[in-house]
Amino acid sequence: MCRHLARLGPAPVTLASVVTEPPHSLLVQSYAPADMRGGGTVNADGFGVGWYVSEPPGYSTEVRSRTALYRRDDPMWTDASFLDLARAVETTALVAAVRSATVGMPVSTAACAPFRGEAGGRTWLFSHNGVVRGWPHSMAGLAATLPPVDLLTLEAATDSALLWALVRARIAAGKDPADAVAGVASDALAAAPGSRLNLLLSDGDQVIATAVDHALSHRVDPDGAVTVASEPLDDDPAWAPVPEGSLLAARPGGVHDPPVVTVAAL
Ligand code: GLN
Repeated sequence: MCRHLARLGPAPVTLASVVTEPPHSLLVQSYAPADMRGGGTVNADGFGVGWYVSEPPGYSTEVRSRTALYRRDDPMWTDASFLDLARAVETTALVAAVRSATVGMPVSTAACAPFRGEAGGRTWLFSHNGVVRGWPHSMAGLAATLPPVDLLTLEAATDSALLWALVRARIAAGKDPADAVAGVASDALAAAPGSRLNLLLSDGDQVIATAVDHALSHRVDPDGAVTVASEPLDDDPAWAPVPEGSLLAARPGGVHDPPVVTVAAL
């Protein structure tokens, strides 16, 4: 199964310091993941990194709405240009994923997380690590709840792209983002029992993640930065596992605010 992470902090860091440089970085997890739980062996069917553009204070009133998205349908380790870019780009908030395509699903750039979209006046980045059982038939009922245009503009014919469209539609309809993620996870589990549904969503200010039949850990740094990842990026004892069947919602600490991390049963 794919591997993903989100990192939000008060101060900008390079993409490389999160995605490619740690001892068990997402780059390492693309060819040597440690905790796939029977869901594939390597994550070589593409990757993606989405990040929020950091700007000087006062530069823009829409700091969190500017994002960049870099996705490829090749293994991360083959993309020397990305490895170079990652050393130069800095951000306070990013979501990244490496993909192991579920058998029967297309391998294409558009199928690589993170998916990006607008809803409720925010720009969101979304990733899914797992599989929807009985795809696509099991999801026909939930898909029918979406506006036809959302279905016609689905990024890829994959379970992950449909889950993203469902989350986005619910946020657009006014739902709280954590409720939207929890609702989609429980509706998908009801429609497709046994599905593996680690969902990850951020708008650059908050991160929401589920652990449903897959590995997930989180870490809070002394400066208040919050990282959520399928597998710990290093052996820092600050990493804590997110219990199975739960939803994590977190906001990083800033100069004045302590970080807020809540973990609750789904
Ligand atoms: N099922 C999703 C896909 O094929 C996610 C795959 C995974 O987590 N390995 O894109």
